[in-house]
Amino acid sequence: MNAPVLRLTQARWFRWLATQTPPGRALASRFVAGERLDDAIEAARSLAKNEIRAMLDHLGENVTAPEQASEAVNAYVGALDRIREEGDLDCMVSVKLSQLGLDFSSELCISHMERVMAAASSAGSVVMIDMESSAYVDRTLAIFRDLRARHDRLGLCLQCSLRRTQGDIRALPAGSIIRLVKGAYLEPPEIALTSRREVDAAFARCFVRLIDLGHTVHVATHDPTLIEGTKRFVQRRGVPWSRLEFQMLFGVRRDLQRRLARSGYPVRVYIPYGAEWYPYLTRRLAERPANMWFFLSNLVRRGR
Ligand SMILES: Cc1cc2nc3c(=O)[nH]c(=O)nc-3n(C[C@H](O)[C@H](O)[C@H](O)COP(=O)(O)OP(=O)(O)OC[C@H]3O[C@@H](n4cnc5c(N)ncnc54)[C@H](O)[C@@H]3O)c2cc1C
Repeated sequence: MNAPVLRLTQARWFRWLATQTPPGRALASRFVAGERLDDAIEAARSLAKNEIRAMLDHLGENVTAPEQASEAVNAYVGALDRIREEGDLDCMVSVKLSQLGLDFSSELCISHMERVMAAASSAGSVVMIDMESSAYVDRTLAIFRDLRARHDRLGLCLQCSLRRTQGDIRALPAGSIIRLVKGAYLEPPEIALTSRREVDAAFARCFVRLIDLGHTVHVATHDPTLIEGTKRFVQRRGVPWSRLEFQMLFGVRRDLQRRLARSGYPVRVYIPYGAEWYPYLTRRLAERPANMWFFLSNLVRRGR
């Protein structure tokens, strides 16, 4: 996570450039399927042609009014109903609890999640909870545990870069579904590992621990070294692939997504859609400053 790039994306003038100019919208369209559910379903259908599974993320986070949280629930229920109607689409959904009212109260958020889980149950789909910045981790884990006692089709994302994560893994309910990621938020060094080497080593450690404890693991990374390490570990230990899958983001390393799927590995792509795409885009820019240079050079080229 590149702090200067992240800071730049918070500036009003930058947001305007990214959301109101053709190069900004072109960049967004690389990472976001579109603004409508139909766009996300079309992206999922297109991935399915290459044997790649899907996971829909209706974009939005940190809602500022309870009505917005209700609208987000309606959007997720609509998405799950559509997945049910599609019938043959292997498609999960992924939610952010701050989008479902966590900033107002845990009770409100849980009641919203109950509606989402009911729709997921009819669709035969799984709901994954994204992990947001470190301030949300305790409340997210508590809500996951509460809901997980009633719903099997629920999973959680954990960020290996947080110093606390090894401990959080020890306290997970048995047989959890866990998406393991490096972590996309800027955190202070007392909370998160900062060097790439430490983060990569933590990813490998968390992965092995999760497998040893019997959880299902979604290896959510585009890092070829970690992907190769996963394959080797699985082969050596004879772990069934039904307990694992690779996951990547829409528009990132499409070549690798296809190559893995063609070789028979389970691969799922996280498909963000919706009008509230700017915060998501800022994280994609900060993860890879080359994206920022690409955007800025396009802007300059158009301005000439
Ligand atoms: C399915 C999925 C769900 C996720 N959910 C969460 C979540 O809930 N909470 C959370 O904090 N984080 C989440 N993340 C993001 C994650 O934390 C990382 O920030 C992100 O995946 C980049 O790290 P990496 O593991 O790919 O490794 P990196 O070392 O960052 O990247 C490895 C390679 O991948 C490519 N790459 C990575 N990012 C980009 C990019 N933005 N643009 C272009 N190329 C890129 C580059 O080729 C790079 O060299 C999720 C990621 C995935 C794949």
